[in-house]
Amino acid sequence: MSKFIVSKFGGSSMKDREAMYRSAEIAKVHNSHLIVVSATYGTTNQLVEISKVAPIADWKTCRKIFTKIKDRHISLAKALEVDQAAITDIESILNELKTLAKGINLLKDCSPKTYDSLLAIGERLSSRLFTECLVQVWSEKRVSYLDVREVMITDQNFNTARPLKNELRTQCQRKLLEARHGHQAFVTQGFIGASQDGLTTTLGRGGSDYSAALLAWACDADVLQIWTDVAGIASTDPRICNEAVPISEITFSEASELANFGAKILHPATLLPAAEVNIPVFVGSSYDPKSKGTWICEETKSKPLIRAMALRKDQTLLTLKNPKMLQTYGFLYSIFKVFNDHKMSVDSITTSEISVAMTINGQLNQEISKEFLKDLRDLGDLNVEESLSLISLIGNKINHTPGLASRVFNSIPDINVRMICLGASKHNFCFLVNNKDAESSIRLLHQTFIGQL
Ligand code: ASP
Ligand code: MG
Repeated sequence: MSKFIVSKFGGSSMKDREAMYRSAEIAKVHNSHLIVVSATYGTTNQLVEISKVAPIADWKTCRKIFTKIKDRHISLAKALEVDQAAITDIESILNELKTLAKGINLLKDCSPKTYDSLLAIGERLSSRLFTECLVQVWSEKRVSYLDVREVMITDQNFNTARPLKNELRTQCQRKLLEARHGHQAFVTQGFIGASQDGLTTTLGRGGSDYSAALLAWACDADVLQIWTDVAGIASTDPRICNEAVPISEITFSEASELANFGAKILHPATLLPAAEVNIPVFVGSSYDPKSKGTWICEETKSKPLIRAMALRKDQTLLTLKNPKMLQTYGFLYSIFKVFNDHKMSVDSITTSEISVAMTINGQLNQEISKEFLKDLRDLGDLNVEESLSLISLIGNKINHTPGLASRVFNSIPDINVRMICLGASKHNFCFLVNNKDAESSIRLLHQTFIGQL
């Protein structure tokens, strides 16, 4: 039996006729069994715009956005020369969109449930068109459209639904048997799912990678391919550092640190299902399918000390001090209780006997509320520092390499370093600098650790 391959194509790979044909060729060349697609480029953002505008504006304003989505998909259908049945399906999904937008506009309300049905339209449209495209390109294979809501069964947490994995597995094993035997390829939607009652849900923005990984897991796939608009993962953001180089291989642990610490290329949750059962993940460019791309696997041949570096801007550092806590207990407990009560998550933390420093991914009055800070102030003297950036170096044996810290800080001698986190992970060393110093620090560190390799 041939290898079972799940291929996911993002919005830029669905952008227009050329992008769709290019993606279809890739699916064919790789003999993909299950093809998971995002909405066409920009469509999800326009659907979000409808959800915001429709409850407050008049119908004319909403209709303008609706018309943009409609025109894009109708002209794409024409450019792809799809048959009448496909046109009828596209028109019926567009009618559903119009009805939803009108409903939101009339009721002046867009509940989380409605929002998910609205956003799901994007993937439903693109996958229907892409099915036609793949049928044309791949005449040797039976290609069918699969409504992912038949298999991606989730809880009812609209907007950030989580899969019910047993259900997902059972449905995939049943419905995708034909694909497993190599008789058929399926095209389906990323990002969306359905509750057990059949209500449409979504997995959160950027969730198609996660969908693809879940489907790969549920089908016991051999390979998961993520096709995007860049040739794999780079050693750092090339917009910041023009010496950034493509990474040919990286472990699951390093890649998930990289995603968590700010690299935009993968959704942080993506790798979990693939890592769980050790399905190798390939990340490549659908614009340049011959470029090498990146393999993410459990084990890699090379294990460099520093493989990549990530940057996350606009972090806030909270330092809480209470001298009364000297040689008592319960201080950390009371702090974490406040975090828990406000559903806030701590990123990095260092402590001394009487003070604790913690970073939060966010800014005051946005992610960080006044009430949350007030509750922390009840526990001691609180110092808040804003406009910081978290720099993380990602690699191997980081906490067992003598002299690493001195090499790191010697390469950025003039930069004021705030909190340092080293020791918790063998794959990650991170610290804070001011936003204004962040990009130059990355450039200097890249030169020291990666540029000279
Ligand atoms: N179309 C969705 C979004 O833009 C999901 C995805 O592309 O991953 O968020
Ligand atoms: Mg996307």
